Amino acid sequence: MNLLQNLNEQQLAAVTLPNQSALILAGAGSGKTRVLTTRIAWLIQTGQLSPQSVLAVTFTNKAAKEMLARLSAMLPINTRGMWIGTFHGLCNRMLRAHHREAGLPSTFQILDSADQLGAIKRLLKANNIDDERYPPRNVQQFINGSKEAGLRAKDVEVNDDFNRRFVELYTLYDAQCNREGVCDFAELLLRCHELLDRNEILRQHYQDRFRHILVDEFQDTNRLQYAWLKQLAGGRNAIFAVGDDDQSIYAFRGANVGNMSDFEREFRVQNLIKLEQNYRSVGHILNAANALIANNARRLGKELWTDAGEGEPVRIYEAQTDGYEAAWLVDEVKGLIAEGRARSEMAVLYRSNAQSRVIEHALFNAGIPYRVYGGLRFFERAEIKHALAYLRLIENPADDTAFLRVVNFPPRGIGARTLEQLADAARATSASLYAAVGGMTGKAGANLGGFVKLIESLRFETVNLPLSEIVDAAIQRSGLIQHYQNEKEGQERIENLSELVNAAAAFVQEEGYGADAPGTQGEAETAIPSPLAGFLSHASLEAGDNQAEAGQDALQLMTVHAAKGLEFFAVFVTGLEEGLFPHENSLTELDGLEEERRLMYVAITRARRRLYVSLAQSRLLHGQTRYGLKSRFLDELPEQAVKWLTPRAGAGTGGRFGQWHDAGVKPAASAASPAARSQPTHGFRIGQSVRHSKFGDGVVVSLEGSGDDARVQVNFGVHGVKWLLLAVAKLVAA
Ligand code: ATP
Ligand code: MG
Repeated sequence: MNLLQNLNEQQLAAVTLPNQSALILAGAGSGKTRVLTTRIAWLIQTGQLSPQSVLAVTFTNKAAKEMLARLSAMLPINTRGMWIGTFHGLCNRMLRAHHREAGLPSTFQILDSADQLGAIKRLLKANNIDDERYPPRNVQQFINGSKEAGLRAKDVEVNDDFNRRFVELYTLYDAQCNREGVCDFAELLLRCHELLDRNEILRQHYQDRFRHILVDEFQDTNRLQYAWLKQLAGGRNAIFAVGDDDQSIYAFRGANVGNMSDFEREFRVQNLIKLEQNYRSVGHILNAANALIANNARRLGKELWTDAGEGEPVRIYEAQTDGYEAAWLVDEVKGLIAEGRARSEMAVLYRSNAQSRVIEHALFNAGIPYRVYGGLRFFERAEIKHALAYLRLIENPADDTAFLRVVNFPPRGIGARTLEQLADAARATSASLYAAVGGMTGKAGANLGGFVKLIESLRFETVNLPLSEIVDAAIQRSGLIQHYQNEKEGQERIENLSELVNAAAAFVQEEGYGADAPGTQGEAETAIPSPLAGFLSHASLEAGDNQAEAGQDALQLMTVHAAKGLEFFAVFVTGLEEGLFPHENSLTELDGLEEERRLMYVAITRARRRLYVSLAQSRLLHGQTRYGLKSRFLDELPEQAVKWLTPRAGAGTGGRFGQWHDAGVKPAASAASPAARSQPTHGFRIGQSVRHSKFGDGVVVSLEGSGDDARVQVNFGVHGVKWLLLAVAKLVAA
């Protein structure tokens, strides 16, 4: 296969560069990812590189999978075992292979950020620390921020008492994690960096091995990630980096655009190639993106052009409420489906996860299958985390987070007092909670002993079972199923638990356990962890990537952040209101507004042919009705490139919505006014949460009639979707 035939001149130059460090700085859709992937294939095809000598880092699991799939399509090679993944995924892999050298138990577990927060709360409690003065979230941010800067507690500069306390907490937190054999996300990176820093033999080994290091989305690497790449390059291997400063959207997590200029200097980059032709989007979409981003002052500066023609203008729709915004969106999606478009070619993007609920309801009622990336994902649901906690204890009984999650779930008569005593005993002997159970007496001791016995017997009985049977055994023997059978909403949870067994089976198959993994034989450092250990890492790292509906043609829902690097035929960007997009939190931060604008630039440039942008005059968010002003970003789109589907909202940055203004509604409208005006006789709005005496909580999905005949349609979840006559129904706003 001729890999080079479909490349333009600059792309070709980039793909076939000699083995020297290079930076490809280019705008969205100009083929950066394509160049990077093609370069790997070309190096392998021309015999300059073996698949084992590649290290390629991408930003999301989805992107890594796609890269592997594209590689297999270009070359007759088996990509399994290749070092292509995310920073976290690759560091996890390195630490698993060298856990002893890294000072970790072979069974170490990964704490996701919710688990980490839980662990910090526990720590504060155990040390009698006032969590108002030291809010757990701030402690978490402090710890992660320090780790991402490559600093252990002892390295953090102490300048006052307040800061000293944070540093102490960091020390205690690390000790707790070590005791329990767990790593948070930032720890995976820092630990890996320290491992290579300390261990010269290993460092040399990997430097010998990875002759080519390739990095996608380089603008979003943080300091520690860059330091790790430098270690692996070791002054002799080339780094091929691609990125776009206009798409840097992770500053809030420590991403450092300055890495680009550091890289140019430190690696004496001679090859700075610019790609300027955009192959993704039609002219109007590209013009909208270019004009928007031109409002940012701090840019390296580059323009994109396309020869794809103008295409259709960007459509803007202003709805009265978030419910109507969703209803309009559903209509447009139906229209696109009728034109023969697959659902998976369309994406709905939002700035904040909380926006998805209303959209999900509308899609659900319209019978349009959808998939949510992010938000409450499969592996984050409570019942799944409970089941995983049992599995984690089978792997590693010292995992106190897992222990506390399920020691009394389902209830076993083990109360808070008992657990405090247990925690004291554990602290006294620096043991795990699990190990401390032996020292407990009386009834409490017996109950705890029963739990330990359960875990021990589970471990004993499942030793040689296939993974899915281990998972099944844990779910059955833990008592989770029986517990949920007696619960009101238990059926869905039980279904999710069965889905976990399926997920385990699929995992074993996808990862090729049992079959020989080609390319990894005889290499001690890529020793494959047990299926259970692998599955537990997978659950922590890849949450959301394997949802139940995988394989089904589904509309894609995600935050703008999660959409990075992806492209779709049609894209809906929703919630263009001041305070939401740009997000209110950003407005007080240095560079905050520019980062929001880059985020909007990312959103716009995901679209190939159709771009829809919408806003709602009022929106129910976090239990409150908000009346947002039109986003300033809408005014930054050039008139020729857009088409308003509704009368254009008031001009001028932050202007009130035209219609309401003309109608004399005061800007500080009371909670009822705009919504009530639009549905004068109902008092309810589409998308509103309501409560019914018999059916419980629901969401309004439709409204009809007026006066005595006014009806609302409500989705009551397990109780189904019902029409209610308002004159008689006992329905209240929740
Ligand atoms: P982003 O900044 O959003 O990550 P990118 O620069 O990585 O974008 P790609 O995703 O690699 O861009 O490419 C965008 C689209 O353009 C893809 O569909 C890709 O296949 C296509 N493309 C890139 N180069 C060419 C080319 N020379 N000929 C035809 N199509 C191309
Ligand atoms: Mg890309």
